[in-house]
Amino acid sequence: MATVYTKSVEIVEVSPRDGLQNEKVPVGTDDKLGLIAKAIDAGVRRIEVTSFVNPRAVPQMADADAVCAGLPDRDDVTYIGLVMNQRGADRALATGRIDQLGAVCVATDTFAMRNQGQTSDGSVEAAKAIIETAREAGKTAQATIAASFGCPFEGEVAEGRVIEMARAVAEAGPVEIALADTIGVGNPAHVTRLIAGVKSVVGDIPIRVHFHNTRGTGLANVWAAILAGASNIDASIGGLGGCPFAPGAAGNVATEDVQYMLERAGIETGLDLAKLIETNAWLAPIMGKQLPAMVAKSGGFPAPHNQEKELA
Ligand code: ZN
Repeated sequence: MATVYTKSVEIVEVSPRDGLQNEKVPVGTDDKLGLIAKAIDAGVRRIEVTSFVNPRAVPQMADADAVCAGLPDRDDVTYIGLVMNQRGADRALATGRIDQLGAVCVATDTFAMRNQGQTSDGSVEAAKAIIETAREAGKTAQATIAASFGCPFEGEVAEGRVIEMARAVAEAGPVEIALADTIGVGNPAHVTRLIAGVKSVVGDIPIRVHFHNTRGTGLANVWAAILAGASNIDASIGGLGGCPFAPGAAGNVATEDVQYMLERAGIETGLDLAKLIETNAWLAPIMGKQLPAMVAKSGGFPAPHNQEKELA
């Protein structure tokens, strides 16, 4: 029997937060707002715009309030603010501009302790509390399980641990649960197994995936995730979002690369490839480097404007 693919997926744009947070070059608030506006113009309808964390720990996110104040007024766009704790959730809600809180729990104790000063179990409880806070404020929340495919400190992460965390966090009623390959060590077989396991314990809560292309497996993992039933894919324009544990590594899977692969495969993303490539070209000089994304270098296919030249 032929495999039946889903007809469409949602790409969640994470460049303004995950894409930028590990970049050394300070990016101004106006440029962040420019990036957000260009992403919306390219068709993005859900964006992780910033995180509400300690600015000493993540200086690139110090302007979270200013970014929120400058967000375009769009009823059709969902703005996500990433938060690690109650204080962050309160700050995000106080802006009045964040539609959805992004809560994060971490699959290992060592990483959870370094990232947010709590155990892995503690991070699950914190995520559940954040989801509840969002609900009380009339907003939605989603949860991400960081280091789902491997930990920079503890190495392999047991699939059963991630499945158990997903079951626990599902009790709080997030709009979706994301499996994040924070350090880019996942492979497609692992993705297939883990999504099947998580789906078996979270009922009909949608699965989102977050892949870094640190070791070149990002797009293969996206494809495996879609076949396994993931409906939402995190991606970053230009493939920004290098791994803090692998200096110089490629970043998040690139929005233009994911768009290209999926649209060519007949899966709708709602995004305009030419506008994504234009945004890459606009962003590269701001970052002072060529960005890791592939399709922006080659162009899409077919490319009518190139044919004459190539045939000549
Ligand atoms: Zn990430």
